[in-house]
Amino acid sequence: MFKSLKTEVKPTPEQRVALFKAIGTFRFVYNLFLAEADKRYREGQKYMDAYDFSLWLNHAYLSENPDKVWIKETYAKAVKQAIINANTAYQRFFKGLAAHPNFKKKGVREPSYYFVRNGAKQPIVCERHKIKVPGLGWLALKEYGYFPTEANAIHSGSISLHAGRFFCSVLVEAPDPEPVRRETEGIGVDLGIKSFAVVSDGREFPNVNRTRKVGKLEKRLKREQRRLSRKRESRKKNSKKGKDSSKRYNKQRLKVQKLHYRLDCIRKDSIRQTVAALVKAKPEFIAVEDLNVRGMMKNRHLSKAVAQQDFYGFRNFLAWKCKVYGIPLHIVDRWYPSSKTCHFCGTLKADLKLSDRSYVCEGCGKRMDRDLNAALNIRDTTQYVLA
Ligand SMILES: [Zn+2]
Repeated sequence: MFKSLKTEVKPTPEQRVALFKAIGTFRFVYNLFLAEADKRYREGQKYMDAYDFSLWLNHAYLSENPDKVWIKETYAKAVKQAIINANTAYQRFFKGLAAHPNFKKKGVREPSYYFVRNGAKQPIVCERHKIKVPGLGWLALKEYGYFPTEANAIHSGSISLHAGRFFCSVLVEAPDPEPVRRETEGIGVDLGIKSFAVVSDGREFPNVNRTRKVGKLEKRLKREQRRLSRKRESRKKNSKKGKDSSKRYNKQRLKVQKLHYRLDCIRKDSIRQTVAALVKAKPEFIAVEDLNVRGMMKNRHLSKAVAQQDFYGFRNFLAWKCKVYGIPLHIVDRWYPSSKTCHFCGTLKADLKLSDRSYVCEGCGKRMDRDLNAALNIRDTTQYVLA
């Protein structure tokens, strides 16, 4: 199985120039592919797939447009990836799986710089503190010893730009997990808004979005976003007068991106810590509810909180960790009434409201925390599928 690792890199000024150039080339080639496909489609000509397009680009197009020969200065594999990505996006559109692909705009979800190893003879060499990227040379890593340094360990990688910083991800071949000895009994996990997760063994993981730190950052983000939209307006007005204020606008946009990034890091980190704590004791199994996130998002009062929680991100990361450790992951049927059933006698309480924080059973009279009751039911139900 493949595993993806990502860390920040510190390109030299020359490498930064080369990366920006490569990103620009990627954008240009990607957009050229879409424009050409659209044109051929309109004119009733045959669609060019990735292979046809490469031939056309290298021969017909570049000989007709000698001023575009800089395309060839970018590492060939990176250009090839732009063509492959554009072809895939267009194919998905043809098959009705996706909307017509959008042209890539500068500064919006910038493309990445892709590289692959060239067989066993030309592997991607990596040392504790640097990685040798085809077309770029040695690139300094911010985190030491995170990437594997064994020969041929790295299959491929990409460098992406995010909020003004460069990150390198690599794909490495990871050994298939060995079955581990179970050390503790299975656990059920109830996900929610008040606490991020309540576990059947009594542990509770707080919701990081309710902390002061995140609250403050959110407030700042809102303020900077308002500033950004004001600057967008004045940029529009100024450009009509012939003045250019896009520098100020771009500076503000970077500020907003950086705040988004910080919040994202805090949330991801909290998810990672929660998952690590859950799998650490190597339970016999882990059971979670198949959350109806889409349904929850329809609830206006809940949608923002749910979006911030990133339950999907949690589920994916948990599934991945469970796979690594060989822990079975139970996905409990979303219609199973985990909150409404009494764990002790099985009585169903149909009128349980979201605001009822504790569960009082009408059958046996037991009173307990609502989320803990749900977590216990999630642990013990047989209505699940394996992830
Ligand atoms: Zn009961």
